[in-house]
Amino acid sequence: MRAAGRPAAPSAGRGLIPIRTLRFLLGDQLTRRIATLTDLDPDHDVVLMVEVRAEATYVRHHKQKIAFLFSAMRHFAAELEAEGIAVDYVRLDAPGNTGSFTGELARAVARHAVDRVVVTEPGEWRVWEMMQGWRADLGPPVEIRDDNRFLCPRADFAAWAGDRRSLRMETFYRGMRRRTGLLMEGSEPTGGRWNFDPENRKGLPKGHVVPERVGFPPDAVTVEVIALVEHAFADHFGETDAFAWPVTRAEAITAFKHFLAVGLPTFGDYQDAMRADAPFLYHALIAPALNAGLLTPEEVCRAAERAYRAGAAPLHCVEGFIRQILGWREYVRGLYWARMPDYAASNALAATRDLPWFYWSGETAMNCLAQCIGATRTHAYAHHIQRLMVTGNFALLAGIAPAQVEEWYLVVYADAYEWVELPNVHGMVLWADGGVTGSKPYAASGAYINRMSDYCRGCAYDVAKKSGPSACPFNYLYWNFLIRHAERLADNPRLAMPYRTLARMDPTKRAAILDDAARFLDGLDAAPSAAPADQGSLALAAPRSDPARRPARDTATTASRRKG
Ligand SMILES: Cc1cc2nc3c(=O)[nH]c(=O)nc-3n(C[C@H](O)[C@H](O)[C@H](O)COP(=O)(O)OP(=O)(O)OC[C@H]3O[C@@H](n4cnc5c(N)ncnc54)[C@H](O)[C@@H]3O)c2cc1C
Ligand code: SF4
Repeated sequence: MRAAGRPAAPSAGRGLIPIRTLRFLLGDQLTRRIATLTDLDPDHDVVLMVEVRAEATYVRHHKQKIAFLFSAMRHFAAELEAEGIAVDYVRLDAPGNTGSFTGELARAVARHAVDRVVVTEPGEWRVWEMMQGWRADLGPPVEIRDDNRFLCPRADFAAWAGDRRSLRMETFYRGMRRRTGLLMEGSEPTGGRWNFDPENRKGLPKGHVVPERVGFPPDAVTVEVIALVEHAFADHFGETDAFAWPVTRAEAITAFKHFLAVGLPTFGDYQDAMRADAPFLYHALIAPALNAGLLTPEEVCRAAERAYRAGAAPLHCVEGFIRQILGWREYVRGLYWARMPDYAASNALAATRDLPWFYWSGETAMNCLAQCIGATRTHAYAHHIQRLMVTGNFALLAGIAPAQVEEWYLVVYADAYEWVELPNVHGMVLWADGGVTGSKPYAASGAYINRMSDYCRGCAYDVAKKSGPSACPFNYLYWNFLIRHAERLADNPRLAMPYRTLARMDPTKRAAILDDAARFLDGLDAAPSAAPADQGSLALAAPRSDPARRPARDTATTASRRKG
């Protein structure tokens, strides 16, 4: 990649010298249609892209996430250059790299003597604040443009949200269906219903064969980047051996078309199902590409709708898929910007426990957690229900401090950015916002996990047992959670049934639940720190627990995804 020099002024008169613009493209803004580039003048402008240490380490992101982004950035820069656009690309190991956005932007401004800087608003409050500093201190004017990749602009969401205390996704989603016309027949929803969620909760039948998924074995650019990441971020969470993410728009389109053909027609049915040997099931695997700009939410929703209209996928699957993107994804993004920075500070259930060590190591006798965390280490991926009802549910029931849980979720997934991670974890999983997002906490006992997965069959605990050392911990932790938070939750109409059961519960049984929960929670080992600072080396050290308790790795599935 080359650094462009300033072109000769076309005339001695200052008024005729074209404005020279530095277009600063962040690593998750990799689309030619991003606001930063819409009015790009290839004869005069320079696009700046930087790999900086501070962004890779403000939390210790999964190695696959860093490799995915650096590789996608390098590919995108090459595509811009092929168009004749000057790209000033600063690699992580470039001499003089200051390691921060602010430092690299200042160096580039000095290098190119630009008249102004154009950038698109970022995905995180932290960087938004940084951008305000650029406006004040950088020198040339800095124009911050709205992120045009979302279907609901920040201002529109803020107007809808107003100062309402609770914001329901379903109401927002219906508004977005009307606004976009997606799955609409005039003013009515296609099929006469807005939501086919009840049809989207099936468990996988025994012996069900899950299709292979297309994967993208690392090309030369990705191989180089993986080596860089393994060296520069050796102590970060996760493994890179199974890297198979699409790193260009062309690859992302191939992956999405494959999903349309083999995933979408069954997506809805098994959306909530989990199986130990099949971490991807029928999920789209598009979040890293969507969040980095390689795909747009509008094009994937329109393509899914076309599949329905062409008879290639049933309505409940297509509606289920569109709801995730047009509904949930737009909703959490709007919520994040409408309620930050105060949103992250709430802790409605006063949860303070340290994050247990097994969240990093995967070493736990609870098979559901070991499987989900093991797959997360291998693939930087877990699907929605694994995030919500396994790792999330445990964190909720055990009362783990929101900031520590949020950091974990921001670290471990290839698709993690605060705008989408925080509302999902803080609001949906932990109910730390006191009901802004969800009308009730998503607390569940082992019975739910058993119904939706095959994890319990391979577990050291007994899901059918309610108390005692061999009982499934989710069982007594669930009732312990309801008992502990009765003052706050007992009046919630959506929790009326379990609280009625609790009211009728034999006092000895209730006491046993409290004892079991106290014994179990007291025995949880906390991580040495919330960040996985030393976990790489500790995880590689002789296991502290019986090797039989270590998580199984789904190598079979890894291999099959890479085959594609
Ligand atoms: C605790 C928790 C944390 C999460 N953190 C993230 C995160 O950091 N980044 C992220 O992109 N998604 C996050 N999600 C949402 C969801 O789990 C992932 O988007 C999804 O698992 C990605 O895999 P997929 O592309 O196969 O998705 P699919 O299941 O195939 O869904 C299709 C798309 O819908 C969107 N989507 C689905 N559910 C949500 C949701 N709840 N919020 C926002 N978008 C949604 C995603 O863009 C996803 O790619 C989180 C969910 C939970 C419960
Ligand atoms: S028995 Fe309990 S801990 Fe074990 S896999 Fe099932 S739900 Fe998880």
